[in-house]
Amino acid sequence: MTFRNLRETLLDVLFPAQCVVCGRTLVSGERYMCLHCDAALPRLSMRSMTDNEIHRRLMAKDAEIDRAVSLMAYRRESPFARVIQTAKYGHRPGMCRHLGRRLATTAAKSVFFDGIDLIVPVPMPVLKKLRRGYNQSEEIAQGIADATGLPWTDDCLRARLHSTQTRKSASERLDNASRTYYLPHPDDWNDVRHILLVDDVITTGATMLACARHIHRAIPGVKVSVASVALTALA
Ligand SMILES: [Zn+2]
Repeated sequence: MTFRNLRETLLDVLFPAQCVVCGRTLVSGERYMCLHCDAALPRLSMRSMTDNEIHRRLMAKDAEIDRAVSLMAYRRESPFARVIQTAKYGHRPGMCRHLGRRLATTAAKSVFFDGIDLIVPVPMPVLKKLRRGYNQSEEIAQGIADATGLPWTDDCLRARLHSTQTRKSASERLDNASRTYYLPHPDDWNDVRHILLVDDVITTGATMLACARHIHRAIPGVKVSVASVALTALA
């Protein structure tokens, strides 16, 4: 058992499992969320993979994104924001994997995964990952891989150590993000035809866009689709 899994197990033992949204003690069969909150989760429609809010937001910036899905809407003031905040900052890699499986089983009801041959999480600079203990996007990617049987890798795309994205304007974020990512060994991925990029939350789409651009540039002819647990509601 790794240290991070031990820490998560200890948290479960010391603090009886509670719903991350409403705080109610969970009963048998419930995981991370009570059934009531689960039913009220602000789900996003996955009816269309190429004509939905996330796809429009990315395509508006001239991205070449094949398909796009997101599980739920994210509003910082909503109690459901705790789903993302707990998974990301609450030492809960297992919860990230759970959300990844959830995202995958919902998306798998359509043809979303058809033709996708590699899952690539949005990378995090090494020092940031060491500080947090895990990269939430990697954990979500593993959850999707568990549910679909598709391979995932943290080797394809890397992040350079860079200043934090918070407190930057949208254009600064785009500029910052475009310089942050790179493919260390692009030739290793020449046989890959369709990559699924995975992140926890999409806000402006600048991060996904920067990653997709680097992948398109480095691997000729590859398709890129995206999946995220949440999509920030724009005011
Ligand atoms: Zn609840």
